[in-house]
Amino acid sequence: MIEIIDAMQRAVDVVLTSPHPTNKVAASLFRDDLITSRTNAWPEKISRHLGMETRIGNSSGTIHAEVNCLLHFPGKTEGASLCITDPFCPNCAKNIAEAGIKRIYIDHKGFQKDFASRRGDEFENMSLRIAARAGISIYEVRRKEGVITPILETPENYTAPQDNPIKMSKSPFDANVKGLRQLVNSVQVIHERWACGFAMGTNRELWALVASAHPAIGYTKDDPRDMESLSHPEGKYNFYLEPMNRLLMGAARHGLRLLDGLVWCSVVPTAREQVNLVTANMTTVYIGNEAEGRDADALSARDTLAKAGILTFSSLT
Ligand SMILES: [Zn+2]
Repeated sequence: MIEIIDAMQRAVDVVLTSPHPTNKVAASLFRDDLITSRTNAWPEKISRHLGMETRIGNSSGTIHAEVNCLLHFPGKTEGASLCITDPFCPNCAKNIAEAGIKRIYIDHKGFQKDFASRRGDEFENMSLRIAARAGISIYEVRRKEGVITPILETPENYTAPQDNPIKMSKSPFDANVKGLRQLVNSVQVIHERWACGFAMGTNRELWALVASAHPAIGYTKDDPRDMESLSHPEGKYNFYLEPMNRLLMGAARHGLRLLDGLVWCSVVPTAREQVNLVTANMTTVYIGNEAEGRDADALSARDTLAKAGILTFSSLT
């Protein structure tokens, strides 16, 4: 078993290798004997073809340390723990929740940085609320003293309500474009933004995954408090997790590898989803309606990544 203090130390050990000029962040994701430590970074293809300055729609080309760990962990992320050098942002909170992480440890020095004070509201008002709903416990870690202090603890018996979980089944279709078309046609949905695709398990079994845009895990449509918070998105963040991100995190949760060229989205994925797809080594994604996206930034990100030859967008028909 990996110790919390050791996992945090590994994150601290790599944090200065972050290519980010100002905000250097690192994380360690661990469960049983597996551990992955990563910094925030530019996916190799993005730094090589577009450089570090190019905006991709409304997104930077960087990937946060937490998501970088989630997309590169060699096992199931469900039930795993995460050590981070800094408080996590609301977008990471949603991904962490979808990936089934149960405990997050934050280095106490992370709360003292400029970044933390600038972003304190987002952490308090969104990241912690998303974590609480998902049933994730949060702790502050003082490495030198070996002291771990709870910030937010989830009761043992809490189970997050989920009214729209990712659908996963052993695939009745083949892992090729014809099979993907059959999968798309077999799904009855639900939401204008949804995604599906094939993923491979460790025993080479083929899974079909289906997800639609939905508020973070633990938020439901039936709870009036939820509608209240969902209708007041704060700043640049909101409580929704987009379908392709859900697919990526659902695959990570169960230790599956999404298959390149065998994922489909009903509309053009958001800029952030596209950067995450590149991080997950995807080169081709199929799109239902290529003229539609959640916003104009999705389409402009698509143009940027397609023109640079980083991601190919294709139609099934
Ligand atoms: Zn983040």
